[in-house]
Amino acid sequence: MSGTKYVYSFGGGSADGRTDMKNLLGGKGANLAEMANLGIPVPAGFTLTTEVCTYYDNHGKSYPGELEADVDAALAKTEKIMGTTFGDPSNPLLVSVRSGARSSMPGMMETVLNVGLCSATIPGLVAKTGNPRFVYDAYRRLIMMYSDVVMEKGGGIEPAEGQGIRQQLDRMLDEVKKSRGYASDAELTVDELKALVDRFKAKVKEVLGTDFPDDAREQLWGGIGAVFASWNGRRAVSYRRIEGIPDEWGTAVNVQAMVFGNMGDTSATGVAFTRNPATGDSKFYGEWLPNAQGEDVVAGIRTPNPLNEATKNEQNQHLPSLETAMPEVYRELHAIRDRLEQHYTDMQDIEFTIQEGRLWMLQTRTGKRTGTAALNMAMDMLAEGLIDERTAVTRVKPSQLDELLHPLIDPAAEKQVKALAKGLPAGPGGAVGKVVFTAADAVAWAKRGETVILVREETNPEDVEGMRAALGILTGRGGMTSHAALVARGWGKCCIVGAGTLEIDVHGKTITAGGITLKEGDQVTLNGTRGLVYAGALAMIDATENPRFQKFMALADAIRVMKVRTNADTPDDARQAIEFGAEGIGLFRTEHMFYGKGSEQPLFLLRKMIMSEGEAERRAALDELFPFVKHDMKATMEVMGSRPVTIRLLDPPLHEFVPNDREGRKKLADALKISASELDRRAEELHENNPMMGHRGVRLGVTFPEVSEMQFRAILEAAQELRKEGKACFPEIMVPVTCARSELDDQLALARKVHAEVCQKYGVEKVEHMYGTMIEIPRAALTADEMAKTAEFFSFGTNDLTQMTFGFSRDDIGGFLPSYLDRKILAVDPFQILDRDSVGVLVKTGIDRGRATRPKLKVGICGEHGGEPSSVEFCHMVGMDYVSCSPFRVPIARLAAAHAQITHPRT
Ligand code: ADP
Ligand code: MG
Ligand code: MG
Repeated sequence: MSGTKYVYSFGGGSADGRTDMKNLLGGKGANLAEMANLGIPVPAGFTLTTEVCTYYDNHGKSYPGELEADVDAALAKTEKIMGTTFGDPSNPLLVSVRSGARSSMPGMMETVLNVGLCSATIPGLVAKTGNPRFVYDAYRRLIMMYSDVVMEKGGGIEPAEGQGIRQQLDRMLDEVKKSRGYASDAELTVDELKALVDRFKAKVKEVLGTDFPDDAREQLWGGIGAVFASWNGRRAVSYRRIEGIPDEWGTAVNVQAMVFGNMGDTSATGVAFTRNPATGDSKFYGEWLPNAQGEDVVAGIRTPNPLNEATKNEQNQHLPSLETAMPEVYRELHAIRDRLEQHYTDMQDIEFTIQEGRLWMLQTRTGKRTGTAALNMAMDMLAEGLIDERTAVTRVKPSQLDELLHPLIDPAAEKQVKALAKGLPAGPGGAVGKVVFTAADAVAWAKRGETVILVREETNPEDVEGMRAALGILTGRGGMTSHAALVARGWGKCCIVGAGTLEIDVHGKTITAGGITLKEGDQVTLNGTRGLVYAGALAMIDATENPRFQKFMALADAIRVMKVRTNADTPDDARQAIEFGAEGIGLFRTEHMFYGKGSEQPLFLLRKMIMSEGEAERRAALDELFPFVKHDMKATMEVMGSRPVTIRLLDPPLHEFVPNDREGRKKLADALKISASELDRRAEELHENNPMMGHRGVRLGVTFPEVSEMQFRAILEAAQELRKEGKACFPEIMVPVTCARSELDDQLALARKVHAEVCQKYGVEKVEHMYGTMIEIPRAALTADEMAKTAEFFSFGTNDLTQMTFGFSRDDIGGFLPSYLDRKILAVDPFQILDRDSVGVLVKTGIDRGRATRPKLKVGICGEHGGEPSSVEFCHMVGMDYVSCSPFRVPIARLAAAHAQITHPRT
């Protein structure tokens, strides 16, 4: 005897386990125990712990010696509570065998129901219930589930496509239904079921080569063994590798007395959410089916009935709700709903079964939800006093904000038009786009920059790529659990399903409703929150204006200690970022003014400067360029007001700006008064083999000091002019691509000289600013103690730092990164998620060494990582003052920073 407790019982108002024993009992087992302890009606049963699984794996698929006796004892307890006996011919107990890891895991064995039905127990159960139809229905289900999950999958048999035993048996069942003209399983007669189970057993023998076990105990241990074996099944193992779940976790097995939803019209089964998982509405939400068992509701064999009024929709409104069909049971279920929410203080996803008017709970767990629902529930539960502010903040994942930032249809515009059709609101938000009818078109149109809405009768897995490419999805058929709805909800994408009144002609490429026809390419607007389809393009508004969202973000802001800035180079971006809550600019790229709208003139002058030869010629060109640069910096600083603005000196290699077209070159040659061939010669001289590591960043300033001088002057004059106008302004001058303190000193001397000149020009003592550097080369990070002697701030440029650390060229990564990810050589793309083991070490070293020299050194990050939640968490952990990211990611970074403070408190 090892003294280890391997089996935990539950039922009859108490349990050995608790909800916080998930590691040992798995999520399902721990919560069944918790419900039993709460006095909620749960069929009795017991859980074999995850330690049994570990033992089984480490001991050549055998069990601890005492396990059999422990199981017998637990079974006896269950029998006593339920008043039935496992394997007994006159009063048999049937059980389900359910797998249950810490969190539900694809690839694990599925549940087997009705275990214990065999020739010895069938007659007794028939006599006891007087319901042979029910008994044979239960038996045919047992054969279908057991032969599939225990005999075939558990036996490691890999059938040909479409030839799995379950599929073969399903086809036999369908044939019988079809030949009789039955719409549902519930119509099969006893005799038909009897004949079917005989044919099922023969088929099992024929396909799998062994007899279906006709012994209750053999079935039970077969089920238990299959669960433990499935922990090391191919799919489960590869899922663990991807998710980083350790093998040692193991799975538990739950053996639980069966209750039957298929005993007739006073029996039923259902699933429910304590609140609406799509919208967050605090209304009980669910589906049920009379005379059905197990997963019939989710399997979609019949359209499930609505639980109550709140759950009714276009598809199920004609079906009876549980609220009206069984009001007593519904009231009891509703009371349990309240009880569970109070107890778990979160939305629960529950399973229940009603056996001849008596309610039983079979599962509860924290329910999955859309981003909108997460936000609404958090704020509602806070208002209800169910949770506190910190908990409310943790209830929305930063990644879910993405979905909340989707636009909505402007309610004023929506009020003025009539909907073309109504469907089910499967994915939230609004979307406007051009109609396309195939997934391939959606991909192709999106590729050429069109915004499209994919319209299908219904979707299937082949459509996924098109669904991704589309801004919104609209289907004519399908319910809230259809493929389109599930996929769209997972992505937080706007989606309407089951818009039955729309006539969708996929071949003719038209949709028609109420006399209006839309062709391919016509604009359509979807309101995915309400399920409404409109012809034409309606105006959209920004969801972040939602006061609820802003309140929630204010809660997050009160918690976080790290500031969030944005990367912005234009007054427009800066304004947008401020709306999203940016507290400064972490990266203003000087070179932006030479790209895009309005850049023609400054770009031409920059080119002139680049193509100049000798300092005099270059200075002349710089003088012409200067007013543009100053104006540009001033405009953005003005928008930012009292918020700091980090301005990076010119960064890219100069050759990037040289025109390649004949006409551009000729114009330039004329302006410089040189010949075309002379210009070609000068351009040729700029050529580099490895420009990303070439003549760029601070190196330009070292070789052409007048280029840096012009920029210093532009920044300081712009700042001084703003101050003179009575406006606040805090520029931080950032030198890029540095690797040595001496580079910083070299440039600082220039900056000081220019500063003195500017002060003299405006008659002031000084123009307030900071002088610092980007840390993007490993040497700079490693010599940070030296760098910090000159630099007053650091901003980690982790894009380049990642490039330099891995030796991966960002621009050429497409050639090999996909293979690296596929083959799991790398778990994630290091340009997306900061690699804590390497780049992270450089960052931490840089901060520690820098602050050893200058304790108040201001530190931030700019680049893609600044808006990625796990990287933001890391930045918080190493003590950064702020992160900076693109405007749209600012709210995500704010929330991620709050979560980081909750998990890793920092003073
Ligand atoms: P999953 O993890 O896939 O949800 P479950 O173990 O919860 O698997 O079981 C699948 C279905 O069988 C669920 O609908 C569940 O409610 C039902 N079920 C499981 N055990 C029993 C039981 N003892 N009596 C009645 N129904 C059961
Ligand atoms: Mg399932
Ligand atoms: Mg379940």
